[in-house]
Amino acid sequence: MEFKICTLGELLVEFLAKEHNQRFDKTGEFIGPYPSGAPAIFADQVAKLGFRVVFFSCVGKDSFGKMCINRLKQDGVIIDGIISRSRANTGSAFVSYQDYNERDFIFNIPNSACGLLSFNHIDEKLLKDCTHLHVMGSSLYSFRAIDAMRKALDIIKNKGGTISFDPNLRKEMFNIQEMEQSFGYIMEYTDIFLPSENEVCYFAQNDESEQQTMSTLLNNGIKHIVVKGGAKGANYYGLDEKNCLKMIHVDGFNVDVVDPTGAGDCFSATFVSLLLAGYCIETALKFANVSGALAVTKRGPMEGTSSLVEIQQFLSQHTMV
Ligand code: ATP
Ligand code: MG
Repeated sequence: MEFKICTLGELLVEFLAKEHNQRFDKTGEFIGPYPSGAPAIFADQVAKLGFRVVFFSCVGKDSFGKMCINRLKQDGVIIDGIISRSRANTGSAFVSYQDYNERDFIFNIPNSACGLLSFNHIDEKLLKDCTHLHVMGSSLYSFRAIDAMRKALDIIKNKGGTISFDPNLRKEMFNIQEMEQSFGYIMEYTDIFLPSENEVCYFAQNDESEQQTMSTLLNNGIKHIVVKGGAKGANYYGLDEKNCLKMIHVDGFNVDVVDPTGAGDCFSATFVSLLLAGYCIETALKFANVSGALAVTKRGPMEGTSSLVEIQQFLSQHTMV
């Protein structure tokens, strides 16, 4: 079956601190604007692979918004669900890399044009032939955004579609109560779950191991889980024909890390797209691992999205025979 993916949420511009350990309370230089927003990066990666993807979002009628829309359009994302509003400005984020793989963010999302994304934006006509919805936890930043997600989810689920979910938690978002409450809801419908390693504890009971948590989630109905582990690679979990836990690990490729933001979104987009396209789990995982590795080699969160040809080229150069 021809599949078509839908996603929704924040579309924003990002500014990167020029120096490592640069502080937000001291004057410094930033590089940007770069188009960003986790679901936007996801959509861009799906489109780069040559698959159909509809993205619902909201930007301001300003140059930042124009820049974001132009990029998505150029890369092949269906942009009819992105609305430009004059009464708010396009969202933004500032990021500064600290030691020990830490990142600090300042987000301007719920109070920007992103905050205007609502139930009424989700146009059923645009979802007509969509068969899959991808939800980013970071996109559930307000009751309005959650309403929009629930509408899309209802429509897709009612026609037998599938759902993927990437919690994409940021420590700066922990105080958004709406987000936390909606996670339980979305997990009930999730078919493909794509957490980062450090997010697994959030879905675990007490101090059980990663494998125990995965077994419970799979027995509760999730079909595929991939735990993203940054430079270490990723772990796939599923149930085999005998209902036993099946685990596949892929080591991360050795690449020069320029900017790790967006790697998880590219990884998730490649894994989900290829699985829907009928690739076997092993290949989808391998290609997603390359997609994440390629993403970290480019400065800017959306700059490292890649095509199937680029992924295959990378693999042929990095796989030993
Ligand atoms: P983000 O949400 O910021 O994009 P994430 O935590 O969701 O990040 P990561 O685990 O950082 O996702 O990255 C996703 C995948 O990309 C990893 O599982 C791995 O396959 C690849 N990857 C990430 N960082 C590196 C790296 N430094 N070297 C090689 N591969 C990497
Ligand atoms: Mg992520």
